Amino acid sequence: MATGKINVSVENIFPLIKKFLYSDHEIFLRELISNATDATLKLKHLSRLGETTVEYGKPVIEVKVDKENKTLHVIDQGIGMTMEEVEKYINEVAFSGAEEFLEKYKDSAKDSGIIGHFGLGFYSAFMVADKVEIKTKSIQEDSKPAHWICEGTTEFTLTEGDKEQHGTEIILHINDDEKEFLEDHRIEQLLSKYNKFMPVPIKFGTKEETLPLPEDAEKDAKPETETVDNIINNPEPAWTKQPTDLEDKDYKEFYRELYPMQFEDPLFHIHLNVDYPFNLTGILYFPRMGQDMNVQKDKIQLYQNQVYVTDNVEGIVPEFLTMLRGVIDSPDIPLNVSRSYLQADGAVKKISSYITRKVADKLKSLFSNNREDFEKKWNDIKLVIEYGMLTEDKFFEKAEKFALYPTTDGKFYTFEELENEIKEKQTDKDGNLVILYASNKDEQHSYIEAAKDKGYTVLLLDSPIVSHLLQKMETSKEKISFVRVDSDHVNNLIKKDEEEISKLSDEEKEQLKTDLGKVIPSEKYSIQLEAMDSNSSPLIITQPEFMRRMKEMQQTGGGG
Ligand code: ADP
Ligand code: MG
Repeated sequence: MATGKINVSVENIFPLIKKFLYSDHEIFLRELISNATDATLKLKHLSRLGETTVEYGKPVIEVKVDKENKTLHVIDQGIGMTMEEVEKYINEVAFSGAEEFLEKYKDSAKDSGIIGHFGLGFYSAFMVADKVEIKTKSIQEDSKPAHWICEGTTEFTLTEGDKEQHGTEIILHINDDEKEFLEDHRIEQLLSKYNKFMPVPIKFGTKEETLPLPEDAEKDAKPETETVDNIINNPEPAWTKQPTDLEDKDYKEFYRELYPMQFEDPLFHIHLNVDYPFNLTGILYFPRMGQDMNVQKDKIQLYQNQVYVTDNVEGIVPEFLTMLRGVIDSPDIPLNVSRSYLQADGAVKKISSYITRKVADKLKSLFSNNREDFEKKWNDIKLVIEYGMLTEDKFFEKAEKFALYPTTDGKFYTFEELENEIKEKQTDKDGNLVILYASNKDEQHSYIEAAKDKGYTVLLLDSPIVSHLLQKMETSKEKISFVRVDSDHVNNLIKKDEEEISKLSDEEKEQLKTDLGKVIPSEKYSIQLEAMDSNSSPLIITQPEFMRRMKEMQQTGGGG
């Protein structure tokens, strides 16, 4: 038997870990399962290299709750630890065996999917447990099993154990304040949040599975059931596979797996897959969005080597793409650092611009390959595209080729097509191209009709950020201006009809004007009481284009 002092560089690290390391107590389970996964994958790697005689087989990681003894168990069939290794890896806090392993097997282990690298994960167990035991047996021949016990102080005991099978069992004696972690449903919840796509099967209890009826079964025969392991994860999620091995339906199925409460199919997906100069895989989905800018609940999830990290991808994914759904998985994103640091990190910057490029390329190819379908989807995707054009110049450049400008008649133009269409007939006296648009088909109906009667093309631009985008277009392109159909500028473009059709008497008109003047501030609007032609309404209230935009910007929050 050995007793000794845990080697710490900081005087007493436990209170530190408990308070500051992870604000979220629940992540201890993710850390322990990550270690169990690492130990299993290490065995897989060694057996592949022929460096061990132990068979890899079909290892499972088991999570077990023992309510009576108030313990939680995480059991793996990985490489285990010798006595010496426990001394080295466990007793030396912050000495990461994962990092050492990766260092030793540098090139061959690069793609082994090993998770650990902080060397503190194991100690997160003390956030929820008063006492932690390790029972372990190494795959090394003739090695003795080890039994380590620590009660959350820097004292520990290490004795020879009795574990027969190689692998490790971690036993947490759950603290009275953390009893929730002895409840099945709470553990299930954690497993499905953090471990749903981890690479080694994870067992939590058993379940009954209905066996198929034999062919010659009686009509009213009851199907038999069988007790099987309840495996909570999918060790091979779609994003870890090659796009060429997946069909459209696989992507849709995976979407359901990610968001079980989403019943609507995504519009399309983008498979991300790059290993130089950084490592990143993932699948992004464009959900149907319409006008809805509400904060979404189902967000993009960030993983590292198939371990869930967070669904806050701010700083990693460009803001306009946070409206998408899906997963990204990258071991190259530094964690536990502030968001502002993330934004300045070189690798993260590259990741962010890679994602932007991939999304733009995908949109471009959807547009070129099936324009009709792209037009159909436009209403659901325009928000993301317009927001991207507004906020990311690189995206703006690319989006020029596929961003669409729908007319009130349901036609769609690219900007270039639009220019060609209107350059002969819609210019003002300075030779600027005047692009007419409506923001609401019903409210601006009479203006739209009047403009169309004159042969003008009227766009229907009704997304909530479009006024910001128009401003950007006007400053980034020469000699164009966007003018809303009901603004007073249109009068300069559209010749006013001579004929007066108002049936009101002069007196009545004056009265009406005075009445309207009381409710409509004259410095913002001008009131016109003659119709532009026989089909439009005789009463027109216009607002100078510039005033209107100012107001809209205030509503949608600030400048362009
Ligand atoms: P990290 O995983 O970042 O290396 P941890 O504190 O989580 O740091 O674990 C420290 C070390 O303890 C691991 O690197 C590994 O060598 C060893 N270890 C922890 N859990 C296990 C396990 N289940 N099986 C084998 N070794 C383990
Ligand atoms: Mg770890």
